[in-house]
Amino acid sequence: MLICELFHSIQGEGSLAGVPSVFVRTSGCNLRCVWCDTPYASWNPTGTKYEIADLLGEILAYPAQHVVLTGGEPLIAKGIEFLAAELRANGKHLTIETAGTIAPQGIACDLASLSPKLAHSTPSEEQAGPWAARHQATRWQPDVIRAWINHCDYQLKFVVRNEQDVIELMELLGSSNIQVAAHKILLMPEGIDANILKQSAFAVSELCKRYGFRYTPRLHIDLYGNTRGT
Ligand code: SF4
Repeated sequence: MLICELFHSIQGEGSLAGVPSVFVRTSGCNLRCVWCDTPYASWNPTGTKYEIADLLGEILAYPAQHVVLTGGEPLIAKGIEFLAAELRANGKHLTIETAGTIAPQGIACDLASLSPKLAHSTPSEEQAGPWAARHQATRWQPDVIRAWINHCDYQLKFVVRNEQDVIELMELLGSSNIQVAAHKILLMPEGIDANILKQSAFAVSELCKRYGFRYTPRLHIDLYGNTRGT
């Protein structure tokens, strides 16, 4: 399995924000978000090849009870189901951070952090060549989202910039007949710079108040800045 990063940090986003966790970032993604904050795991995938047993050993050497499988898109990493099953067998709480374009197919998971991508994520053809159309065709997979919701506990996390994005996500969920409690829908400001995030955070928090959705910070950016391995 190609691993981009393996590190011990604080979960920065979502309902487990603040919880010490080991992060396993697989390399490779089936999307190409124009504002991707981990291009080294998607646009230009880099990493080290690991045998699953070695990877497991390194993860278990950390004291954290929580493990986060992230990417890139972890669901396309070869052997991810086996790694997840082993982590569960070792008593770890397992979060899988996925864009929600690939079905769970029985993978062990305690919290699916589903992050479907809205229209503003799509790159232009000049920026991404054939990936532009591929991204646009792949980014919203309602059947897959439903499969995850029926599989385990979940949160739906959307990167939003303005009210139009909130209206878009509500239309997507509504037209796909995906009904979830408002507190399961998390709105997250876009940005990898603490100052820019601070500016957009207030606007996103106001949108949460208006629509009843939950605000999620990006604690790791506040704490460490846009630094790899954090
Ligand atoms: S899904 Fe995530 S890793 Fe993949 S391109 Fe989008 S932001 Fe980057």
